[in-house]
Amino acid sequence: MYEDFLREVRRLGNLGHAASVLRWDQEVVMPEEGTGARAEQISTLSTQMHELLTSERMGRWLEELEPRDRREAAVLREVGRRHERAVRVPERLVEEISRTASEAFPEWNRAKREDDFERFAPYLERLVELKRRYAGHVEPDVEPYEVLFQDFEPYLDLRDAEDLLEEMRRGLSPVVEEIGAGGAEPGSPLGEVPEERQMALVIRALELLGFDFARGRLDTSPHPFSTGNQFDARITTRVGSDPLDSLLSAVHEFGHALYTLGLPVDHYATPLGEPRELTVHESQSRLWENHVGRSLAFWRFFTPVLNETFGTDASPGEVYRGVNRVRPHPVRVESDELTYHLHVALRFEIERDLVAGEVEVDEVPGLWNDGMERYLGIRPESDAEGCLQDVHWSHGSFGYFPTYSLGSMMAAQLYASASEEIRGLDDIVERGEFETLSSWLREEVHRHGQVYTTDELVERATGAPLSSEPFLAYVGEKFGELYGF
Ligand code: MG
Repeated sequence: MYEDFLREVRRLGNLGHAASVLRWDQEVVMPEEGTGARAEQISTLSTQMHELLTSERMGRWLEELEPRDRREAAVLREVGRRHERAVRVPERLVEEISRTASEAFPEWNRAKREDDFERFAPYLERLVELKRRYAGHVEPDVEPYEVLFQDFEPYLDLRDAEDLLEEMRRGLSPVVEEIGAGGAEPGSPLGEVPEERQMALVIRALELLGFDFARGRLDTSPHPFSTGNQFDARITTRVGSDPLDSLLSAVHEFGHALYTLGLPVDHYATPLGEPRELTVHESQSRLWENHVGRSLAFWRFFTPVLNETFGTDASPGEVYRGVNRVRPHPVRVESDELTYHLHVALRFEIERDLVAGEVEVDEVPGLWNDGMERYLGIRPESDAEGCLQDVHWSHGSFGYFPTYSLGSMMAAQLYASASEEIRGLDDIVERGEFETLSSWLREEVHRHGQVYTTDELVERATGAPLSSEPFLAYVGEKFGELYGF
């Protein structure tokens, strides 16, 4: 009987992976006019997934099956959790959310391009309303935002998460201020670099980091992202004015892909072969982007490659200081490692109030700009680089943003443990022997799929619950040395 259940679970998993490919296609290669048909395709798949997940048969299995081991228990727990939530949501609503999100994405894209918030506003309004209704069905007695947060991070309590985020903010503010007051602002040593060379460097970096191009691909998109499974992990980056941005975006997405590719192949399309949710996923990307890609050890290794590809003559120290420049930027994904989290704090604040019905959609641009001034001391020149900058809301993803900062905390905690367990990790990175770190992560995180909950996974890997301390210690040490405080 468990085998029948598992076959159905795999069907569900495969539908999900098929939908992911369609979404990737929509964001990377699909012509604009394909939107209508694509919206229907994705909506059809979502409806089918909802039907499979909420069927009576599934309900019976979940009620009657007794797990024979820890793995079966994990599969039943994960499918059971999703079933319980989904069964409470009317199919029509699921379909409507999916269709609206598919329609909203190109509207957001155009609104951003044309700096026209009005164009996107009705879609945002509709999505907020639909998601609020969704939350009301799932857990009528819980704050809607918390219900939405659980879709992205089911195993960390929102109140605990808030405390951690608050500790992070309190810890970061004086550091950012200190750096700002010091006026130290090393510039980029590279100047303008043509897009082909930027891409050439990205490909070279991915090869050296160990990205398996036989099981993965690299493309460009306006908002870098990653998707896929253990057989086919796709990442994107964007090329633009800052050549180190395209590189570090790619290193970030590489971390996501490495997680995906490290999932057990035998358990493809079941929870044991799926990644843990967004906090853990983001910890993997942040670890590579910040703890490796923004380390002096990495740049001692990689600067010669960069110089060769760009025809430049930079020193490791220069590039290291360049990629660790702290300077408030209106765009989150172009922000430094520290002020980044103040972007997250603002988005978190606004979306929480939006979902709670405490602010209206048409107030968002103003609130955004005021908030930027309050947190970062800068005011975006347009909505395109203000509240329209991020894609998430066009997907109807509210409750997603906190996982970015939580992921950074987890990354710092994991990297601290890796540094304790792998002797001479810095030297290993400096020699470009990234497989040592990859294996450690595969062993501690990737191979477990969803066997452990988020909190269990962190505790097993690091010996302690998720905490803001390793992150703040890392920040103090690295930026203290860089900026002399
Ligand atoms: Mg990410």
